[in-house]
Amino acid sequence: MSARIGQEADQGRGEFIDSAHDVGDASVADEVASEDFTEAEHNSDVLQQVRDALGRVADGTFGTCIVDGGPIEEQRLEAVPWTPYCLTHAQRLEVAASSKTATL
Ligand SMILES: [Zn+2]
Repeated sequence: MSARIGQEADQGRGEFIDSAHDVGDASVADEVASEDFTEAEHNSDVLQQVRDALGRVADGTFGTCIVDGGPIEEQRLEAVPWTPYCLTHAQRLEVAASSKTATL
């Protein structure tokens, strides 16, 4: 996912730079680029989680659950590398979130 966001941002930049060589198309390229950036922004929740995960890498706490400090399952990290929760706590939070929605 983070790679995808990066790609979209790169594409936006690339299209802009490519078309900037054609002087007349610069404004069009600008529009195309900003559309791509908007699409990337839809993933900003994930991007924030990725940033948090990078912060945990820097702290040396990456791969541990922020609730109990236990190890996050390797398979889970492969599927969702930026997750701050182990499977147990992720499921508990999902249950809590869905029961909240149910009572609304
Ligand atoms: Zn946990």
